[in-house]
Amino acid sequence: MIGVEASPATQVIAALTASALYAATYLSFVRLLRYPRNWRLPSLSACLGTGALAALTVALVSLSPDGIDTPALAVSAGFIAVLFYIIAAPAIAFRPARRHIEFLAKHGDTAGLWLLGPALLAGLAIPNIRLQAVLGIAMAIELTWFLRQRRAGRRRRLYTLNDHDLSVLETQAKGDLVAFRRRHGIRELALSAGAVSWRGCGKGTSPCPFNLYVNRLGLNTSPCCREHMKDLSHHIASGLREMGVVHWLEGGTLLGAVREKGALLVWEDDVDISVLLDGEMTWDRLAAGLAERGAREGYFVDLFEKKGFISISFDPPKPWPFRWERNRFRGEIRADIAIYRQATSFGEAVLERRSHKGAMPATESGGYGVPREIVLPTSTVRFLGGDFACPNRPEAYLQLLYGDFAKTEYTYIDAGPAEARARIDAAAGNPPVL
Ligand SMILES: [Zn+2]
Repeated sequence: MIGVEASPATQVIAALTASALYAATYLSFVRLLRYPRNWRLPSLSACLGTGALAALTVALVSLSPDGIDTPALAVSAGFIAVLFYIIAAPAIAFRPARRHIEFLAKHGDTAGLWLLGPALLAGLAIPNIRLQAVLGIAMAIELTWFLRQRRAGRRRRLYTLNDHDLSVLETQAKGDLVAFRRRHGIRELALSAGAVSWRGCGKGTSPCPFNLYVNRLGLNTSPCCREHMKDLSHHIASGLREMGVVHWLEGGTLLGAVREKGALLVWEDDVDISVLLDGEMTWDRLAAGLAERGAREGYFVDLFEKKGFISISFDPPKPWPFRWERNRFRGEIRADIAIYRQATSFGEAVLERRSHKGAMPATESGGYGVPREIVLPTSTVRFLGGDFACPNRPEAYLQLLYGDFAKTEYTYIDAGPAEARARIDAAAGNPPVL
């Protein structure tokens, strides 16, 4: 059957619609990456929404009154699948991932552009203006991402590594810093004429992927990230105090405050603060207050109401349409705010959260809980040069989470680097850093 030839105007409109649909699919997809970045599974509805947009884009490219354009169908579906896999790699690699995903994550700033050649060839070989428009907009987005990351990389300023940072780094690198830097793509590591320093992250750069460096390579948290975690901790605690929210240092952050006498753990990878929603303090009030303060002081606030937590990142919120592209970063400096509520479990008054934490016992209703009297009324502890709220009995709280918390555990670090760490720490007495 011979179809009716579409007019040039109709073709241009179809091409523009296809580009707009691709852009919407892309934005929806990078928003979806907020879940793996926070070690959570995305909700089914969010996945279906993104999937539907991708299917619509492919359908618009390959279906016409003439029938199905099979080559355009295969190329558009295959291209989007491969490109999105590349884009997702840094977020997937927040957990230990397969080697090829780690490789893609390491090259996350440029990997999208590797499809430029195939996109050009496909665009020339298949005379379908809607396909050409989708390939064109996808490559334009990848190019702007690359250029913005490259420009941001130039804003890094040099930090000095202290003796402990250096000795850990040299041990984990087995003395060969050049090879270690290359193998793991540690672009922050500046080596020149025997001097070792750190190209630090800041508000205008992408963050150091320090969960990779700390949890997998067994390095100390980098000096820039320590500084920013300190600022972030003070920002959140002062906001919660102003709002009158009952809150306390949680998990590894509390462990640092108590065991390391007010310092961060040397391998800290996030800040943990918990809050109690009770009485007039509702989720909506808390979320609105934190979001407003974050916007004012330049911190990105991401809300996960159904999962019962709020993530606050050091990098500043960006205007739409760049808002969610931060999920393509290979790491981030972040505080996790876990939500607790009052509950009764097996006849005992508890504060209950939805997500698992350390060895916190399960509650009757399927959450996790800590006896109320261990936490309330909250007390204070010195941390990072200020007074922070902490559980009423911080040692009992830590005991419940970690058992013998005075003993250093290396459970967050891969086995090989953990062994090397244990040797260094035993020799150096695990000195506090901040
Ligand atoms: Zn950093």
